Amino acid sequence: MPSRKPAPEKLSPKEVLELFEQKGALLSGHFLLTSGLHSERYLQCAIVLQYPQLAERLGSALAQRFSGVKIDCVVGPAIGGIVIAHEVARALGVRAMFMERESGSMTLRRGFMVTEGDRILVVEDVTTTGGSVKEVISTLGNAGASVVGVGALIDRSGGKVEFGVPFKPLARVQVTTFSKEACPLCRRGISLYKPGSRKA
Ligand SMILES: [Zn+2]
Repeated sequence: MPSRKPAPEKLSPKEVLELFEQKGALLSGHFLLTSGLHSERYLQCAIVLQYPQLAERLGSALAQRFSGVKIDCVVGPAIGGIVIAHEVARALGVRAMFMERESGSMTLRRGFMVTEGDRILVVEDVTTTGGSVKEVISTLGNAGASVVGVGALIDRSGGKVEFGVPFKPLARVQVTTFSKEACPLCRRGISLYKPGSRKA
C-alpha cells in the first residue's frame, strides 16, 4: 500500500522559481505594487501556497534545509507565515504556531504557548526587511525559547537581512522597485499591470 507520507523534497532554488513561475506566483513585466511603487517583477507566495500539495512539497523542501537541527516547533508570523510554517512543521512532525499583532506587537495568542528551552524554527513566506521575523525572535527569546533558525520560501532582501541565527531561504529573488517618476518601464511606455485587478 502506498504510504501517504511523501519522500522528503529536494528542490533546488531554480526548481522553486520554476514552480512559482508556472503558477503565476512570480511574474515579469511592469507592475503596480500595493505600496504604490512600480516593479518589473511580481512575487506573491499565496498563489503557490493555495495548492495544498505544492505547499506540502515546499514545506518539506524547507524542512530539509534544517535536517540535523533539533526543532521542537515552528512559528510563523501571520498572515504570510501561517501556511508555510504549518507545512514545514508537518514535514518535521512537530507543532506549528503563528504570531500575530496585538496592540502593535507580535504575540502568541489562541492558546499557543512555548516552554522555556523550546528550540524553535521561525518560518515565513517572503523575507523583505525581516522586520516581523526579528520581532518574533525577540518575543520568543523573552519567553525563554531559543530560535535555532529562520526559513523562508523566498529571500528578496538582496542578501541584506541578518537574524543572528542561520537563515535559509529556498530561493532568492531580486525585486527592484521604482517610484512612478523614476520608473524606467514607464519611460519605455510598457503598459502597467496591477496584479490581482482582473480577479472577479
Ligand atoms: Zn512604471
